Amino acid sequence: MEELNKICDAILDYIKSSQSKLIYELWFQDIELLSLTDTEAVVGINYSVKKRFLETKYKPILDDAFKSILGFEIDIKIVLTENADNPEPISISPVPVRENKPVKEESATEQINEPSIISRYTFDNFVVGESNKFVHAACVAVTKDIINESISKTYNPLFIWGHSGLGKTHLLCAITNEIKKKNKNAKIIYKKGEDFTNELISCLQNKTMPQFRDKYRSVDILLIDDIHFIAGKESTQEEFFNTFNKMHDDQKQIILTSDRPPKDIKTLEERLVTRFEWGIIAEINPPSFELRAAIIKKKAEELSITIDNDIVNFLAEKLQSNIRQIEGAIKKIAAISSLTATPITMDMCKRCVADFISGTVPVSVMCDKIIHCVAEKYNVSVEDIKSSKRNKEITNARHIAVYLMKEMTNMTQTSIGDYLDKDHATINFSLKKIKDSIKESKFLESEISELIQKIKS
Ligand code: ADP
Ligand code: MG
Repeated sequence: MEELNKICDAILDYIKSSQSKLIYELWFQDIELLSLTDTEAVVGINYSVKKRFLETKYKPILDDAFKSILGFEIDIKIVLTENADNPEPISISPVPVRENKPVKEESATEQINEPSIISRYTFDNFVVGESNKFVHAACVAVTKDIINESISKTYNPLFIWGHSGLGKTHLLCAITNEIKKKNKNAKIIYKKGEDFTNELISCLQNKTMPQFRDKYRSVDILLIDDIHFIAGKESTQEEFFNTFNKMHDDQKQIILTSDRPPKDIKTLEERLVTRFEWGIIAEINPPSFELRAAIIKKKAEELSITIDNDIVNFLAEKLQSNIRQIEGAIKKIAAISSLTATPITMDMCKRCVADFISGTVPVSVMCDKIIHCVAEKYNVSVEDIKSSKRNKEITNARHIAVYLMKEMTNMTQTSIGDYLDKDHATINFSLKKIKDSIKESKFLESEISELIQKIKS
């Protein structure tokens, strides 16, 4: 993987120096080199529009860059990368446009900013286990309602919540793809909470709110991914509230995802929380060992690699954070195996996943990482955490940093105290404080496990 990254960096440097900044940033800067043999390079890119342009207009630039860096000609295959946070451009069904308004042609840039549906994410390739079977069943039921055009909806709204990387976006895409497959004319909008907000702000600025309302209120199904993003944004919440009510009254389906339950979304208006609770709230839990093993097998099959059972078990044991991490590891194993033309052995896999697993990182590096991530999350500085300042935000961040150092390293309380220049009693107090708070707040628990994932990544 390191080798691939190095080659990719060299290729990007080459393109950067030969093209304008705009062209480079728009089309090339996000490419990834996924695999390389002596005849073929697989290049990943995060949007289908970019993929199309790279395959058509910009292919000679890529050919030239590879030839210069590698020293020989190579076939370049361009594929979409699996980056759930950057879904590829959407194929939203046509939304009625007023007769007298000219239909604005979408430029490539606008399409890039427009979130959409990853066609690869389907129900078929979603592996079901104990931790996600309820959410899965709810999604299937909702999809059936839409396909059968049922008037009464089983779950409306369907609110899915769970930590990052557990399959929320996958399920929303699966619903959309399934409906599109069965009913090409279904009017569906899939939006990231962030994009919904940005679109709304720009409509407010451009005084095009009527079109915005028409667009959202005329759909049959509205999916908003990561709805927590609208928290604290008053005008967005207001508009969403109105859209929600109108759609709900008209028996239109609404599906929302979030990394926490509605009541834990800070500064989400009470009336919105209540609305979200009208339907069903389904939690997606971290995968069990069995589900992790099943997912590893499925992903290996998708990448056309074979992994022995004892290696599958080893990986399922070690890769516990989330499914995105599992996917990353399997891809890395596949890339190294193909790049070095070596079979997939236990030793090779151990090396591949070493950096995915905590405990292999030196303690000091881990502590620095913990403090850095906590400081960033709670908007304080690293120095603040290490200081003796006692304001509320800083003390809270310090307590969490101490708790994570205890959880994520094998340090004793004394050595944590030494590291932060605090006495044993202070460390003890921080640990107790966070342990107690976690018992009372699921939200804190979820924030902490998110931090752990971030620190490990
Ligand atoms: P979230 O939106 O919850 O952060 P994603 O839906 O983006 O998570 O999932 C992360 C990656 O893990 C995706 O590539 C997705 O395909 C994969 N994934 C998650 N859950 C499953 C599952 N049950 N079966 C197969 N792949 C899964
Ligand atoms: Mg997601």
